[in-house]
Amino acid sequence: MDTAEPSIFSRIIAREIPADIVYDGERIVAFRDIAPKAPVHLLVVPKTQEYRDVVELAAGDPELLAELVATAKRLADEHGAGDFRLVFNTGAGAGQTVFHVHAHVLSGDAERPLEE
Ligand code: ADP
Repeated sequence: MDTAEPSIFSRIIAREIPADIVYDGERIVAFRDIAPKAPVHLLVVPKTQEYRDVVELAAGDPELLAELVATAKRLADEHGAGDFRLVFNTGAGAGQTVFHVHAHVLSGDAERPLEE
């Protein structure tokens, strides 16, 4: 049993905290980052908070990681300019602040492409 405190993302998934949810699937949810760093900035998040980061997710459930990447691609096609950056900050020293694995999907849009 997972006795950890719910992460902020688990609280979004439980609808305890509002978010602009753009996808709600069986095992994955995606919503707009509250502090966007690109014209399109989505977070793609497994519903389970069992995995702290992408390294744990890859080891523990590679199929879920593959589903997360495929979801990121589909959402970048739907919401962004197609091409996108897929960022997994891994560890506090690399800027990770929420230890519930999530992918940042960063993309341009029709008017504003991503800067180099
Ligand atoms: P960093 O904060 O350095 O980006 P992470 O990779 O752990 O570290 O990313 C956490 C992300 O979650 C941040 O981009 C932050 O803006 C976003 N975030 C935090 N709280 C919320 C929220 N309530 N709704 C949407 N996004 C959020």
